[in-house]
Amino acid sequence: MKPAAFAYAKARSLDHAIALLGEHRGEAKLLAGGQSLIATLNMRLSSPSLLVDINGVTGLDSVGVKNGMVEIGALTRHVTLERSAEIARHAPLIARAMPQIAHPAIRNRGTIGGSLAYADPAAELPACLVALDGEVDITGPQGKRSVKAADFFKGLFETSLGPHDVLTTVRFPAATAMTRVGFAELARRHGDYAIVGLAAMARADGKNLTDVRLVYFGVSGTPLRARNSEAALAAGSIDDAVDALDLDPPDDIQATGAVKKHLAGVLLRRVAAQLMEPRA
Ligand code: FAD
Repeated sequence: MKPAAFAYAKARSLDHAIALLGEHRGEAKLLAGGQSLIATLNMRLSSPSLLVDINGVTGLDSVGVKNGMVEIGALTRHVTLERSAEIARHAPLIARAMPQIAHPAIRNRGTIGGSLAYADPAAELPACLVALDGEVDITGPQGKRSVKAADFFKGLFETSLGPHDVLTTVRFPAATAMTRVGFAELARRHGDYAIVGLAAMARADGKNLTDVRLVYFGVSGTPLRARNSEAALAAGSIDDAVDALDLDPPDDIQATGAVKKHLAGVLLRRVAAQLMEPRA
């Protein structure tokens, strides 16, 4: 299928992008990597009057570590994160998740900002950002604001971004020597969206885990923390953590809720074992 007709504008700056969005009063969409947006246009799930291309806006594609925080520009491509030595060292959870996102051709174009803004319930990066207790910077007509990841994802494909907002930066604490991460997902084929996935973070305190954060994707409209299992894992028992899983995933086109719930337990055992391994 072909998309409905739309106009195209290349934003010269962040302010220009916001102005263009404002002129079209909610009828315009930002174009980043295009890997989700173009598919929704082609399927006529969306028919904006204008695409505002932000690929030429400078200063939105840097990766760095500042004051113990990893900062990633929204236009940073998946492939850049996958290959970054800084990400491997300071953001091992992102490094583990990245090869699971789609296929190389899609990772060459797709951006972290696009992935978070699109907020697919089965996507890896939203769950990672919640597990990392991260936040995003958003600039809109009223200026700049920061939103915690836990507050950013509002529902199925829904975030706290307004129609004239641009997500500019992703930020989360850099890993320390005590950081442990775990990541696993089950998909029909490598690169497909996950049937169920789990992103996890913890601190190693001697032989114990503290600050455990277990965040599922593919089981709900938004990334979902399994808080009872987090407490059980911090108390030292993987079996108790699995027993405490209180997810109630709905059926979807990939699997029934019952199958997803079973798989969530399988993933929890795998991820718990990763969290208990010392960092290489
Ligand atoms: P775009 O497609 O350009 O934009 C997506 C949406 O976000 C649009 O509504 C756009 O207006 C908005 N947007 C983009 N950037 C911003 C911004 N800075 N501020 C505000 N709004 C913005 N993803 C996964 O996570 N896991 C997968 O397994 C996976 N598999 C895929 C398989 C296929 C076959 C395809 C085609 C895609 C897959 N994806 C997967 C999606 C891929 O990761 C996309 O790159 C990503 O979801 C969107 O990023 P993008 O830069 O391409 O955004």
